[in-house]
Amino acid sequence: MTCLRIDLHRLFPLYLDGAASPSISHRVEKHLLDCSGCRTRLVRMREAKNLLGELPAIDAPPFERLTARMPSRARRVPFVIPSFVRHFAADALVATALFLGFTLLYTHTASARNRPFDSSSFRALAIRAVANTHDPHVIVQGVVSEVDADDDHEGSHRFRLSDSKDQKAFVVCEILDGDTPRVPKAGSRVRVWGVSRYDASPEHEWSEIHPVLRVEVLP
Ligand SMILES: [Zn+2]
Repeated sequence: MTCLRIDLHRLFPLYLDGAASPSISHRVEKHLLDCSGCRTRLVRMREAKNLLGELPAIDAPPFERLTARMPSRARRVPFVIPSFVRHFAADALVATALFLGFTLLYTHTASARNRPFDSSSFRALAIRAVANTHDPHVIVQGVVSEVDADDDHEGSHRFRLSDSKDQKAFVVCEILDGDTPRVPKAGSRVRVWGVSRYDASPEHEWSEIHPVLRVEVLP
């Protein structure tokens, strides 16, 4: 049968903590003699409390430490487990979620940077064909005819790649700062992987590989 002594149920945590006054303890115990429902309830609460007590010990917040030393609570050291364990558990959960989130984000970013280069989506083109292609991912091969010495344009490094058979055909290759490919030496024969685009500004009007994703120096 359901026990309706809610006034006593509310005192059970206090009683279990040993923080109830003698008169309250007496009232609770007197009722327990006659109420099997409350005996069960109390046993469950004590089990739950013991379970919480098995959590790794952590320093109680200052206020709990302070009140624990107060002599008025003589019988057993009252320990306000529910509130602060709950907070601790919530904090731990948030910290774990954040940790997992950042780990996933980091590994994802790292794997994107270190992902094996998938050359299958790149199309090999003659340098003069870059101007007419709609393929964003291209591979071109040629001779490094000019390396941009001045670093006027911040955040990138340029070199000019010319067709070894057709000196008038060239593309301007741009390596973004922080990217892995190194600017090859002038005169070297290289194969370049990157994104094709056309720079239509009046002083340029040339095809570019921008950004350069990979440079392979040929023998
Ligand atoms: Zn009862």
